[in-house]
Amino acid sequence: MSYLEWMLSVLKNSVELAGLPQEVYDYLSKPDRVLMVKIPVRMDDGRLMVFEGYRVQHNNALGPYKGGIRYHPEVTLETDIALAMGMTLKNSLAGIPYGGGKGAVKCDPKKMSMRELEQLSRGYARAIANIIGPEIDIPAPDVNTNPQIMAWMVDEYSKLKGYNVPGVFTAKPPELWGNPVRIYSTGFGTVIAAKAAAEKWLGGFEGKTVSIHGFGNVAQYAAYWANKYGAKVVAVSDTSGTVYDPKGLDVELAMKVKNETGKVINYPHGEKISDSDASLYVEADILMPCAIENVITEANANKVKAKLIAEGANGPTTPEAERILYSRKDFIAAIPDILANAGGVIMSYLEWVENLQWYFWEEEETRERIAAIMEKNFKRTAERWEKLKEERKDKVVTMRDAAFVLAVERVYKAMKLRGWL
Ligand code: GLU
Repeated sequence: MSYLEWMLSVLKNSVELAGLPQEVYDYLSKPDRVLMVKIPVRMDDGRLMVFEGYRVQHNNALGPYKGGIRYHPEVTLETDIALAMGMTLKNSLAGIPYGGGKGAVKCDPKKMSMRELEQLSRGYARAIANIIGPEIDIPAPDVNTNPQIMAWMVDEYSKLKGYNVPGVFTAKPPELWGNPVRIYSTGFGTVIAAKAAAEKWLGGFEGKTVSIHGFGNVAQYAAYWANKYGAKVVAVSDTSGTVYDPKGLDVELAMKVKNETGKVINYPHGEKISDSDASLYVEADILMPCAIENVITEANANKVKAKLIAEGANGPTTPEAERILYSRKDFIAAIPDILANAGGVIMSYLEWVENLQWYFWEEEETRERIAAIMEKNFKRTAERWEKLKEERKDKVVTMRDAAFVLAVERVYKAMKLRGWL
């Protein structure tokens, strides 16, 4: 199944579960607008390379289109449409005033020099400049793009306009109208979701054991904040393997080791397991898969012992695996990615608000605002889930189903009020 096919099936299922008319699916199954552009770049060796890029604007019932820009050799327009659709739903569930969009450039940034990347990024910003803007469409980073790239793009767009326009791209460097919380906002948000779930279903977060799959940006900050809020982080992993200590890891030391040596397995204490997936199976109350997609599958779901899962990564649990997990008597919930990793785009929203006002909050205040939004979203989803389980006794309804239902309902209400349906 392609990503677009999967997204469409999720949409169909959500419209049906929410009891909404079929025309909601018909409307949302297609994007509002697709722009395909070419970006010519003179490479360092003198060759001219002509790259292909897209910006997909899926739906703007709730506010300006919003979503990242992905640089990837295998990205297609079809995937980009599916990703934009996903952003409409993620932003809707997040309760922020945004529709969904996504951009992409077919390229391999790992094989490009800084100068080439800068030319490509400025070229892309120029090519899409006519259809973006703080009130129209606000891109941000996604896979393989970062704050430096946003800085080039905001500069290019501002030059075209003739004045500074900070609110047209988000996740800029803190030194250029960005916010220092951005670097850890996704991992932080995942912990807030997990904490709210633990408070609701496990009697509290403090002292609970947490295992984290991954040790990149999201995972490191998930570990950091889980530890700060009093949970015991017992395992983390990267491609070098898993480090495990039932007494709890020294998270800051593990971060230091990872960032200095590149391998978490160099952490000096606890047990070292060469299998990086061991972090999925260790004894823990909460599992946070924070690395890549499709790690909990039909083949290994029965080895997962955690009662709660909080998805920091995108799509770490396959639908078949989820069915196996929910059939376990002691399993409580998998807090879906669309809810648990929305900290990044919620941060984007706050940065945009700052930019529009040219007024910047302190780091702690920004963090508290993200936490308040995440907690509210968790609560609304958990409540909708309870209701849905009552309404649909004929089938197993997951927390993911509830999240998508809520997301579709909010977009539906806005479209209905606007007279689109
Ligand atoms: N790329 C991130 C996401 O998929 C952030 C998008 C944004 O901040 O606009 O959620």
